[in-house]
Amino acid sequence: MSTSPATVTPRPAPGAAHDSATASAPASNFLRVIVADDRRTNKYGGRVVTRFPPEPNGYLHYGHAKSICLNFGLAAENNGVCHLRYDDTNPTKEDVEYEESIADSVRWLGFDWGPHRYHASDYYDRLYDFAEWFIGQGLAYVDSQSAAEVRASRGTLTQAGAASPYRERPVAENLDLFRRMRTGEFPDGAHVLRLKIDMASPNLNMRDPAIYRIRHAPHHRTGDKWCIYPLYDYTHCISDALERITHSICTLEFQDHRPLYDWVLEKLADGGLLLRPLPQQFEFARLNLTYVVLSKRRLIELVTRGDVDGWDDPRMPTLVGARRRGFTPEGFKLFAERIGVSKSDSWIDMSVLEDCMREDLNARAERRIAVLDPVRLVIDNYPEGRTEECYAPNHPQRPELGRRALPFSRELWIEREDFMEQPPKGYFRLSPGAEARLRYAYIVRCVGCVKDAAGNVTTVHCTYDPDTRSGTAGADARKVKGNLHWLSAGHAQQAEVRLYDRLFAVPFPGARLPWGVPAEGAAAVPEVATPEAGHAVAVAGDEDEAPEIVERNYLDDLNPDSKRVITAWVEPAVLAAATGESVQFERHGYFVADLKDHAPGRPVFNRTVTLRDSRERRAGP
Ligand code: ATP
Ligand code: MG
Repeated sequence: MSTSPATVTPRPAPGAAHDSATASAPASNFLRVIVADDRRTNKYGGRVVTRFPPEPNGYLHYGHAKSICLNFGLAAENNGVCHLRYDDTNPTKEDVEYEESIADSVRWLGFDWGPHRYHASDYYDRLYDFAEWFIGQGLAYVDSQSAAEVRASRGTLTQAGAASPYRERPVAENLDLFRRMRTGEFPDGAHVLRLKIDMASPNLNMRDPAIYRIRHAPHHRTGDKWCIYPLYDYTHCISDALERITHSICTLEFQDHRPLYDWVLEKLADGGLLLRPLPQQFEFARLNLTYVVLSKRRLIELVTRGDVDGWDDPRMPTLVGARRRGFTPEGFKLFAERIGVSKSDSWIDMSVLEDCMREDLNARAERRIAVLDPVRLVIDNYPEGRTEECYAPNHPQRPELGRRALPFSRELWIEREDFMEQPPKGYFRLSPGAEARLRYAYIVRCVGCVKDAAGNVTTVHCTYDPDTRSGTAGADARKVKGNLHWLSAGHAQQAEVRLYDRLFAVPFPGARLPWGVPAEGAAAVPEVATPEAGHAVAVAGDEDEAPEIVERNYLDDLNPDSKRVITAWVEPAVLAAATGESVQFERHGYFVADLKDHAPGRPVFNRTVTLRDSRERRAGP
């Protein structure tokens, strides 16, 4: 079980400095300890060089944000650098479009790789030369078995693998075949180059892993130059060493690959082909988040099926989607800090991420008024044709942001849910005979309502007390519990508002967990970190295995109500919002002026997150 240091990270007070993630001293974690030790012992001469190595085969998601904050963060804290390296060893799946989007997302999160933008394909020549060197040392051979034969002879966890009949090929023959592989003489799959390590190793990765395969496919950067491509395990460690990476941080599934990582680099360093000290690999638990899926394959499926409106749909857990949703880089940094890093897999509840966004937005977003579900309110004793200005602060904790005028008049819009003809006990808003404050304006008393033939309320009637205007002497003399927002009907403007909710309706989309289906209210689900627990809790079961996600189709768990588009009334100041600007619509939540569709005179807002967890909100007053 992991106890993430996030438990001890103090929560910044609302309205604290914007960069709340870095404002408080960061809690330590095992990676920070390792890096600090290596600096103290001068292992790398004080250098700290990390890298973020995305495969350019899709858009970055929330999980990548964790890795980015970790790698760039560790480097920044130690006056080091973090390289952006595209792991582009798979010629057929990769694309320049993805590369640019990846760079944009890293930059958006606020990180900078300086001149250190690299591609694994930059090293194809070196990798090839090193492969010839391995052959020359008798440490690699060309295997001419079929893929199925190679697989079948690999053995199992309890059984040693069987040597390939080609394992003892003479060096000269291996070299000749490998060169001919390169010149394109053989079809895909005819041969592979394998390292000669140990077919009886208890670690399957050490049983003569393949390091080159034939692939007659053009590469988006090297074109037709190559028809053989190096495999990940071979490429990654050498790329790290060539870039003089010090700490190579990856997710837990690579733990069993570490002996191979070290074997390749040690051999090359012993042979004088690489400089010491060599980089070292460390593993951390990947981010698993409830109510979304974080796998490129599934994200691609959602886009191609049309379940979402593209990669940057605000419901998508991609970073381009997050940005359009109004999530902030600072919120992600706060999140990364709060969840910490651990060495065992865990699930984080989506509400932890949402809370981080709320905290950041609470500090930065100006307040505005919007009525999302309007009903008309008429103040019978307010003179017709009169307008006065009420003043609302732009931010309750930041007076330096000033205030703006809200026109007040006889006819207003209020929220439909702020009036009830027959209220339940404890309802403090408007109902016949009841009093409530119109925020920043007057106390009104409800005198009745008008309904249409179907029984729907069309107008609420009130009278106001002229002596209760907010900000005037004696305004607070009379106490009322309800405090409602409103807009002058003659001044309000229309805006398109997109109410986004979670993409999936259940915490573990598609999950039929090994210990039972997560039925409503049942305890048979993995423990999930919640804002209350405040930290990651390990899932029962295998260290590096997430709950078995099989059997059910995750697509059946999509939330049918994840997007609702409405036309809302907004105060005039909302029209001045810049594209991408976040505001708080009072009592509703945080909204952002849509990056694509918002335009002057045609406001379009996306709901980023409600003020509180909607499940809480439903239960509350
Ligand atoms: P996916 O499984 O979604 O395809 P990936 O691991 O293949 O993701 P890469 O582009 O290879 O994606 O990952 C780039 C870096 O981001 C790697 O170092 C990887 O460990 C890290 N990463 C990917 N997913 C997560 C995650 N959920 N949590 C933390 N780090 C992640
Ligand atoms: Mg990958």
